[in-house]
Amino acid sequence: MPTPEAGRAPGRRATRLAVVDPATGETFDEAPDQHVEELDGVVDRAGRAWKGWRADPAARSAGLRAAADAVEAAGDDLAPLLTREQGKPLSESCAEVARTAARLRYFADLAPSTRRIDDGRPVAGEIRWRPLGPVAAIVPWNFPLQLAAAKFAPALAAGNTVVLKPSPYTPLATRLLGAILATVLPEDVLTVVTGREPLGARLASHPGIRHVTFTGSVPTGRAVAAAAAASLARVTLELGGNDAAVLLDDVDVGRIADRLFWAAFRNCGQVCMAVKRVYAPARLHGEVVEALAHRARTVVVGSGLDPGTRIGPVNNAPQLARVEEVTRRALAAGARAAAGGHRLDGPGHFFAPTILTDVLPDDPVVTREQFGPVLPVLSYRNLDEAVDAANGTGFGLGGSVWGTDPDRAAATADRLECGTAWINHHAELSLAQPFAGVKDSGVGVAGGPWGFYGNLRPFVVHRLKEEGR
Ligand code: NAD
Repeated sequence: MPTPEAGRAPGRRATRLAVVDPATGETFDEAPDQHVEELDGVVDRAGRAWKGWRADPAARSAGLRAAADAVEAAGDDLAPLLTREQGKPLSESCAEVARTAARLRYFADLAPSTRRIDDGRPVAGEIRWRPLGPVAAIVPWNFPLQLAAAKFAPALAAGNTVVLKPSPYTPLATRLLGAILATVLPEDVLTVVTGREPLGARLASHPGIRHVTFTGSVPTGRAVAAAAAASLARVTLELGGNDAAVLLDDVDVGRIADRLFWAAFRNCGQVCMAVKRVYAPARLHGEVVEALAHRARTVVVGSGLDPGTRIGPVNNAPQLARVEEVTRRALAAGARAAAGGHRLDGPGHFFAPTILTDVLPDDPVVTREQFGPVLPVLSYRNLDEAVDAANGTGFGLGGSVWGTDPDRAAATADRLECGTAWINHHAELSLAQPFAGVKDSGVGVAGGPWGFYGNLRPFVVHRLKEEGR
C-alpha cells in the first residue's frame, strides 16, 4: 500500500495537523499542516502536468478506470481510516469508497461532443470543448472521499489537473486516496494538500487556478467566490441545505417512518441534503413524532468501528457545540424533546438522536442548517402553508413530499423551490443527473454531463464553406 507521504509537495517543512477520532475525542494521528507558500510550487507543477494530461483522451479514460480499480482494491485500508477520522459506521465508509470508485468509472466514459453549426452563411462553425487548466477542489468533512471524487473525477476526465484540499478534520483518508491514485495516474495530475486556513483561501485565489469547485457551508462559499474573483477563475459552489419533508394527509406513517428517519439521521444528520425539518398534517403530527422518536430512542449509537452501530459521533467538537447550542435554544424557547435533546455522557462527540416538537416556526433549528442528529417536526393545517414554510428559508438544495397518492405528491413536489425533489424518499442521487442548489444552496451545476461540461470551455472554429468543409 503506498504511503500518503508519496507525492508530498517539497518546500518549507510543514508543521503537523492533529487528527481526532470523534468516537474517543482523542488525537490518533496527524497530517501535514502545509503553508500557503507551498501552493505556488504545487499549482505550478499541476500546470505543467496539464500539458501532457490534456493531450490524450484515451489515456485519460484508461487512467481513470485504473484509478477506480485501485480505489476498490484499497477499500480495506480506506474505509476504516475514514471511519476513524470521520466517525461514520464502517458499512457507510465502505459504501463511500464504492461510490468514490463509481464516480471515477462514470466520468471515465464521458467525452465531449463536437457540433457543427451551419446557419446558411458562407462560413460553417464547429463547436469543440477544451479543458480549463488546474482546478482547485475544496471539500468538507462529511463525505471526504465521495465529495472529492465528485469534483476530481469530472475535472480529470475533462483533461484538467486538480489540486484537492480536504477539511483539516478529515485529511487522512484523502491523503491515502491521493497516494493510491498516484500509483496509476501521471505525476502531479492530482495533488492533495492539507492544512488549516488560510490554505483554502489562498488556493481559491491562486492565479494559476482556472476553476474553483467548492463544497461546504454558505458563508465559506461566499468567501471562496470572493477569493476566486481575484483571478476571475470559474466558480462552482455546492453549499448548505435545509431540506424540508412535507407529509401529505394521506401518508401512511407506519410505511414511511423508517425511510424518513434515515433520510434525516444517516451519517449522524451530517448530510447536505438530509431531511432537516418535517412538516406533518396536524391530524397525524403526534403519530409522526412518536414513530420517529421511537426510532431515535432505540437506534444504536456508538463508535463507527463497532459492528452494531447505526449512528456514529458528530465529526468535530465545534460542530457538536453548534448542535448542542441550537437544541438548547429551541428547548429554552418552548420546544419539547420527544427523544434525545442532549449530549451523551462519556468520551467522544456523541449527541443523542433528537426529535423536537412544539418548535416555533422561526426558531433557528428550523430556519438554519443544524447539520447534526436533531430533527424538528412541525405541524400544519393547510398544505399551502406547509409549502410556503418549506420554501421559506434562504436554502434551496432539496425537498421531498410523502403521501399515498404519488400523483398528488408529485404535484406538490413541483411547487418546491429547490434543485432536487423526491417523492416518498429523500437524498437518492443518480450519477447521471444534474445536481444544483438554488438560492443560497449553490452556484453552477455538478453531476452527470453537466458537471463534466462545467470543467470545459467551448472553443469555436469557423471555416469558409467554399474551401470544401
Ligand atoms: P466549511 O464551509 O466550513 O468548509 C468546507 C471546506 O472549506 C473545508 O475544506 C475548509 O477547510 C475549507 N475552508 C474554510 N474556510 C475557507 C476559506 N476561507 N476559503 C477556502 N476554503 C475554506 O464546511 P464544513 O463544515 O466542512 O461542511 C459542512 C457544510 O458543507 C454544510 O453546510 C453542508 O451542508 C455543506 N455541504 C454541502 C454539500 C452540497 O453538495 N451542496 C455537500 C456536503 C456538505
